[in-house]
Amino acid sequence: MNFKLTSEQERLIEAAGKFASSKLLLIDPDGEALTGRRAFSTLWEACASSGYTGLPVSANAGGRALSLVDCMLVFEAMASAGVDPGFLFSLGAHQFAAAVALAKVGTDQQKDAWLGRLAAGTCIGALAVSENEAGSDTYAMKTRAVEVDGGYVIRGEKIWISNAPVANLFLLCARTDDVPGAWGISCFLVLHDATGVSVEEGPTKAGLQGAPWGSVVLDDVLVSKEAMLGGRGGGAAVFRESMRWERCGLYAIALGAMRKSFDDCLTHLRERHQFGKPLIENDVVARSVALMKTRCDAARLLLYQAASSIDDGQADDAAISLAKAFVSEAAVTNAIAAQELFGASGVLENSASSKFLNDMLPFRVLSGPTDVQYKIATRLMLRAKR
Ligand SMILES: Cc1cc2nc3c(=O)[nH]c(=O)nc-3n(C[C@H](O)[C@H](O)[C@H](O)COP(=O)(O)OP(=O)(O)OC[C@H]3O[C@@H](n4cnc5c(N)ncnc54)[C@H](O)[C@@H]3O)c2cc1C
Repeated sequence: MNFKLTSEQERLIEAAGKFASSKLLLIDPDGEALTGRRAFSTLWEACASSGYTGLPVSANAGGRALSLVDCMLVFEAMASAGVDPGFLFSLGAHQFAAAVALAKVGTDQQKDAWLGRLAAGTCIGALAVSENEAGSDTYAMKTRAVEVDGGYVIRGEKIWISNAPVANLFLLCARTDDVPGAWGISCFLVLHDATGVSVEEGPTKAGLQGAPWGSVVLDDVLVSKEAMLGGRGGGAAVFRESMRWERCGLYAIALGAMRKSFDDCLTHLRERHQFGKPLIENDVVARSVALMKTRCDAARLLLYQAASSIDDGQADDAAISLAKAFVSEAAVTNAIAAQELFGASGVLENSASSKFLNDMLPFRVLSGPTDVQYKIATRLMLRAKR
């Protein structure tokens, strides 16, 4: 067991931190953080032109061929430098949920057509699975793809799709066969401007506002047979691959945000005096700080350990689910503690602690809610004991 980073990893973290601090902390002339679609485009272009949109993509497709752990070190460094977790979420969904699955499962023709553009950031990717009646119960999806001469016709609607309003390419799951559960699901590469596709901006979220999301309506969209990703009935395998990377990769953002919040808390508790001494000198405050730090470190260890199993080619799905659940719960617990330690100033609408809490809450739900992760992990552990 070796917890020491290599010198190459140290350099990767340093470069990501420097890049984030110089290019990704957008402040307008009044000192307010820039938000909205214009900020998104500026940040995206900065990442694209510096090689941060294709971190896990192979070098021959124009990416940086980083392992999952190394990608996570980059995302954690950017989040701890104070980059908006919403924007990072979008950048991560493009790579971990879309590009990686295409790279792993796609045919040579599909990879030649898309991987280079995804890596260069000139094409933005999204994974479209969830539906109104199919959230945690993913395979209850109603969107259908019917085989016709020359391809498949897809009809249905996807909701809560990260990147939908900015995406050019959807990895979209639909039912092709009336067999139970996962087996009848296939995945298709669907272009945002294909005839019959309409994308609607989603409602405003309380957190992760820097990540565009929306719904995708498919009104008899014709795609070619070559647009099928992973073969007929192979949609669940594509989804599983995406979820493995997403449940680790996206959660490195939460790790970085936790670290940033912890550092901000320590500074505040040293500077603010009550009863004639710094707040940090109160035993109860010190205990709260110690617990925050323990959660930061435990979350980090669990997540990187789970990610290593993917890099080693022996994905431990139970460990991945438990790590995902732990990180998101720990992030929310720390966010509540941080808000309290900042007192009244912490509960202001635009305070850093309110934003941190709002940004962390969705992590408990997306990529499968905490209770669903516990269910998956328990089922896998029981199966392993048989
Ligand atoms: C910010 C954000 C981004 C997202 N991005 C995408 C995306 O890019 N692509 C995509 O396809 N989807 C995306 N989603 C959707 C996400 O995958 C779903 O929200 C998630 O799977 C939960 O589904 P649901 O919201 O319908 O909740 P439900 O399935 O209705 O579940 C609600 C709650 O019920 C409980 N619950 C449900 N089932 C069980 C069970 N079997 N055991 C125990 N408890 C259970 C859990 O507490 C759960 O939180 C995103 C969601 C969010 C919040």
